[in-house]
Amino acid sequence: MHFDTLALQATHQQDPATGAVVPPIHLSTTFERNEAHELPGNYLYARPNNPTREALERSLATLEGGTTGIAFSSGQAATMTLFQALRPGDHVVLAHDGFYGTTSLLETVFHPWGLTYTRVDMRDIEAVRASIHENTRIVWVETPSNPTLTIVDLLTITRIAHDGGALCVCDNTWATPVLQRPLDLNCDIVMHSTTKYLSGHSDVIGGALIFRRNDAFTQRVRQLQSISGAVPSPFDCWLVMRGLKTLGVRVRAQTATAQAIAEFLDGHPMVEQVNYPGLANHPDRQLIKQQMNGPGAMLSVHITGGAEEALRVLSRLRLFRRATSLGGVESLIEHRASVEGPTTTTPANLLRLSIGLEHPDDLIMDLARALTSA
Ligand SMILES: *Cc1c(COP(=O)(O)O)cnc(C)c1O
Repeated sequence: MHFDTLALQATHQQDPATGAVVPPIHLSTTFERNEAHELPGNYLYARPNNPTREALERSLATLEGGTTGIAFSSGQAATMTLFQALRPGDHVVLAHDGFYGTTSLLETVFHPWGLTYTRVDMRDIEAVRASIHENTRIVWVETPSNPTLTIVDLLTITRIAHDGGALCVCDNTWATPVLQRPLDLNCDIVMHSTTKYLSGHSDVIGGALIFRRNDAFTQRVRQLQSISGAVPSPFDCWLVMRGLKTLGVRVRAQTATAQAIAEFLDGHPMVEQVNYPGLANHPDRQLIKQQMNGPGAMLSVHITGGAEEALRVLSRLRLFRRATSLGGVESLIEHRASVEGPTTTTPANLLRLSIGLEHPDDLIMDLARALTSA
């Protein structure tokens, strides 16, 4: 089945009571027992689980090709719960770039708790191999990475992780299962901020983990969530489910526009560098073809003249919204270093663009005007 068909099939659930084509939102926090003291469904109380969340979890597992999905109240809650499933003394390997919140969690919460971590350049296969020790439990991959769109070889990194007895986790937020399915490349766990493309309309904070196997580790993560309570609301789950139905068309349309914008920006005198996996001169062209179905709708640019010039370009845009986050239907742009704060490693002249569903000609005109009058 093609992805779009699968997305509609996976999110469809006829309500047996009414025949409704769209599933209801189950707001009940508790579930009643019959006279024999049995629960009629598999539900007891809505923190451990509820029908709306379960429907989303099944859909997510199907779309990523996993056995088990667990939906969370945010992407960070998903990451947090996964690290909580490790033990003090365990070690994590992650990229030297990538979503700053993942490193922040390790530094702020888990380092004091006894987890150690090493950041490496994931394109340097020997460096990754050398960073894996006996106590390494997770190799955390993010590809394309935030905000420089570094491409990491999922098949190779997973093999090295497995050789070292570690699990390979892929943050698939930027690619989405439309463009990349890490579990098909032997990764063990996929992480999502469903806040982004999966919900797609900048109106939900959510996260998810999807597991290749439903083993003891998967069950431990589920148990930790149930105990610690980083759970999404039924309404948020329902919104993400609705977003999944249009994920394929949105991502493809947004990708086509991003390609046009990246080509316009590449070689522009006000632009030093464009980071976009769809450019013909991208050094990882072969790898991108091998593991992705398309380059996606995120890009970043280095503006000629430094931070001041970058902020000036930002201030002149009229169609792009100057806001953080990504993956929604409206195009967003941000000066990433300002958002990440004083500890950032992001270049000061970098602007990150999330391309939405506006017409490409209008977005290009907006950028052209902002860049020439700068
Ligand atoms: C946004 C984001 C996260 C964090 O997700 P939240 O839903 O904001 O908690 C993690 N990874 C990536 C790549 C993201 O873009």
